[in-house]
Amino acid sequence: MNPSFLPFALPELGEEEVDEVIACLRSGWITTGPRARRFEQAFADYLGGGVHALAVNSATAGLHLALEALGIGAGDEVIVPTMTFTATAEVVRYLGADPVIVDVDPVTLNLDPLTVARAVTPRTRAIIPVHYAGLPCAMDALFELAEAHGLRVVEDAAHAFPTRYRGRLVGTLDSDVTVFSFYANKTITTGEGGMVVTRDPAIAERVRVMRLHGISQDAFERYTAQRPSWHYLVVAPGYKYNLPDLAAAVGLQQLRKIDRFLVRRQALARRYAEGLQCLPLQLPLDAAADSQHAWHLYPVRLTREAAITRDGLIEKLAERGIGTSVHFIPLHRHPYWRDHYQLRPEQFPHAEAAYHRMLSLPLYTRMSDSDQDRVIQAVRELLC
Ligand SMILES: *Cc1c(COP(=O)(O)O)cnc(C)c1O
Repeated sequence: MNPSFLPFALPELGEEEVDEVIACLRSGWITTGPRARRFEQAFADYLGGGVHALAVNSATAGLHLALEALGIGAGDEVIVPTMTFTATAEVVRYLGADPVIVDVDPVTLNLDPLTVARAVTPRTRAIIPVHYAGLPCAMDALFELAEAHGLRVVEDAAHAFPTRYRGRLVGTLDSDVTVFSFYANKTITTGEGGMVVTRDPAIAERVRVMRLHGISQDAFERYTAQRPSWHYLVVAPGYKYNLPDLAAAVGLQQLRKIDRFLVRRQALARRYAEGLQCLPLQLPLDAAADSQHAWHLYPVRLTREAAITRDGLIEKLAERGIGTSVHFIPLHRHPYWRDHYQLRPEQFPHAEAAYHRMLSLPLYTRMSDSDQDRVIQAVRELLC
C-alpha cells in the first residue's frame, strides 16, 4: 500500500551540478576561488539593486559575521523571534551579547512590530527579523521602529530566497545586512553554505576580511597576484567561514534554476491550499499581492476541531510513509535559552499556541503531483 517513503525534504540536483563539480575538481582549485567569486557575482546580479554578496560556509557564519561587522558585543541586546532556528540567537551569544527572545504574530509567526517595540531597552542595538517559511515580515514597520531607536536590522533570510516585500526582493530592502542559507533543504543549496548581502561597502569589506582569518586579501587573489604569493597581512582575529569552490560549483548551477524552482514551489503551495480545504486545519497565508512568498516551508496548524493531536498526526503520516517536520520548537522551550534567560511559556502565548498544533508538510521541487496527492489524501483521511 505504501509504495515508498516520501521524505520531508530533498534537494533537486541535476547533471549540471554534477558537471560543474567535476569541472571544479579537474581545475585543481577546490577551495574558495573563481567559482565562489562567480557565484557571488551571479547572486548579486539576481538580486539587483547594487548589493554586495559575500559567500560563506553557512548562514550561521554569515549572521555571526554580520553582527560582528555591526560592532555588536558584550552588554548589547539583539531582538529575535522565538519561532526560529537556534542559529538566529546563538550568533548573538558568540559575541557576548544577549538575544532578547520575543513572541511572534499569531497568524504569520513573524516578528510583530508592536511586540518588538515593547522589548526595546537602552541596550538594544539590533533586530533580526526571520521571514518565517518564506513569508516576508512587516519590514516597513520594523524599519520605522529601527530608525526611531537607532537600531540596526539584520534579516535572517534563510527561508527567503526569493521572497519579495512590496515589490522588492529580500536582500535589496533597507536593512544593514541580509543573510541567506544554502543548507541542503533550503530553496537552493550548496550542501552547506550561505550568502551575506549588504549595500554598505564598509560592512562588505569587514565581512570579506573576517570570513577568512582577518587576512586583508584572500588566497585566490594572492595566488593569482603578480606580487609574491607568500605575502599576506592579518588585520584582525578573523574566522574560517569561506565557501569552497566545490560548494560554490553546486550553487552556481542551483541559482540558474531558481525561477523554475519557485514556480514549482508556488504550484505545490496552491495545490495544497486547494486539496486541504474544509479540514480542521489552518493553512499558511500567502504573501500580499505586492509581495512574494518563497514557499520554503508549508506549515499547517490543527484547529481545535481536529480529533487528532499534532504528534498523533505526525505518527500516522509516518506510518503511511510520509515525512513531516515541526518548524520550530520555539527557542524559549530549549533548555539553554529557557534556563539562561529564565523564559516561561506564558511569555510567548502565540508561539506556544502555534507550536502545539503545527507541522510542516513536504514541499520541494522533486515532489510530483502524485506524491503530493498522496500527502493530501493521507491528511484528509486522518482528519475526516
Ligand atoms: C537553516 C536556518 C538557519 C541556518 O542556516 P545554516 O546555513 O544551516 O547555518 C538560520 N536561520 C533559520 C531560520 C534557518 O531555517
